[in-house]
Amino acid sequence: MASGRTYRIDDGRKGLAVLGSTGSIGRNTLEVVRRHPERFRVVSLCAGTNITLLKEQIQEFKPEFVSVLTRESAEELRREYGGSVRVGYGMEGTIEAGTYESVDLTVSAISGASGLVPTISAIRAGKDIALANKETLVMAGYIVMEEARRRKVRLLPVDSEHSAIFQALAGHRKEDIKRIILTASGGPFLRLPLKSLEKVTPDEALRHPNWRMGKKITIDSATLMNKGLEVIEARWLFDVSHRRIEVFIHPQSVVHSMVEYIDGSIVAQMGSADMRGPIAYALSYPERIESGVHSLDLINARFEFMSPEKDRFPCLELAYMAIERGGGVPAVLNAADEVAVDSFLEGRIGFTDIYRVIREVLEMDVPSRAQSIEDILNADLWARRKAEEVIRGMG
Ligand code: NDP
Ligand code: MG
Repeated sequence: MASGRTYRIDDGRKGLAVLGSTGSIGRNTLEVVRRHPERFRVVSLCAGTNITLLKEQIQEFKPEFVSVLTRESAEELRREYGGSVRVGYGMEGTIEAGTYESVDLTVSAISGASGLVPTISAIRAGKDIALANKETLVMAGYIVMEEARRRKVRLLPVDSEHSAIFQALAGHRKEDIKRIILTASGGPFLRLPLKSLEKVTPDEALRHPNWRMGKKITIDSATLMNKGLEVIEARWLFDVSHRRIEVFIHPQSVVHSMVEYIDGSIVAQMGSADMRGPIAYALSYPERIESGVHSLDLINARFEFMSPEKDRFPCLELAYMAIERGGGVPAVLNAADEVAVDSFLEGRIGFTDIYRVIREVLEMDVPSRAQSIEDILNADLWARRKAEEVIRGMG
């Protein structure tokens, strides 16, 4: 994974592209960057629709290039900033932001499947990647890892579990791994009576006990689909079979994940539940920098671990099934989940219907070809249509 590259551009600062700069990871990234003006230079920013916040970020970080979702927003920014910043939009603009010439490291923090093409484009342009967008590996893990190897780019995990595993693996041989243990908080419904799950509202599902994140991943944390996606992400990132990746519920989110070795030793990574930690490590690897994260209160920390209940979190098994089947199936899982979560947030389906929708789509004749990014995008599109059909049938 590490390529031993050194950074020497202009003044020696690392040039960053932040894709998804207005989101939860994007904002945390800029908070870390703000603490280290001597180390990092923001070359490009990419946002979706939050133009107000993007403008503040432009004022503060003075990027060379920014991209937004629509042409109208791009024109607004061009009018406002004249020639002082170049402005792009849509997928083309996102790709340009991530591959911009003076960028050394691209922070991939767009949410959902829209993150795949910009991320693989940045890899193809030889940029190191700080990867938050797990969908990139869920959808196209094999292709993405191959491409990263070929271009000798580093894929540095931002997802806290994967950052923990990455740290727990350092200095060890892959052959000596017995199993990887991903921890999950269990979300807001860990102890809710099962029969009440059907009636939970989007507001209740959005109240995560330990982390503040974007809406999609917060709902996925309540169903545990997020952990399922993370199993797939870990499978590719660390090249370890999913059969050796286990999930434990750990409601306190103190241990961010663990690796057990064949001699029975378990290496765990701990810290406060604050994404600035893993973000800082991805930005500064192999060095460590101050991140703003408070020291963990070890005296009051509690450590509880338990197996996830299958009937409370059925989505987890769907994810294992998808990676077992391989090919385009994980992309189908991911797309069906995105559609189902959106529908739940819109109040069109209930919480427990999220699982039903994904399962029904996976039971269809799923396009399994996954030779290219185009195949993957076709599988994604197919799954979105099918999930919509299933949801309409429920109404
Ligand atoms: P948010 O929803 O908070 O932010 C998403 C960001 O992507 C926003 O900047 C949004 O712009 C932008 N965006 C969305 N769609 C597009 C698009 N089509 N084109 C350009 N920009 C777009 O998500 P999170 O920050 O929570 O998550 C981002 C990724 O990181 C996800 O893949 C998630 O799974 C992963 N992750 C997040 C963690 C967290 O703690 N939040 C932890 C681990 C992983 P705008 O808001 O301007 O519309
Ligand atoms: Mg995570």
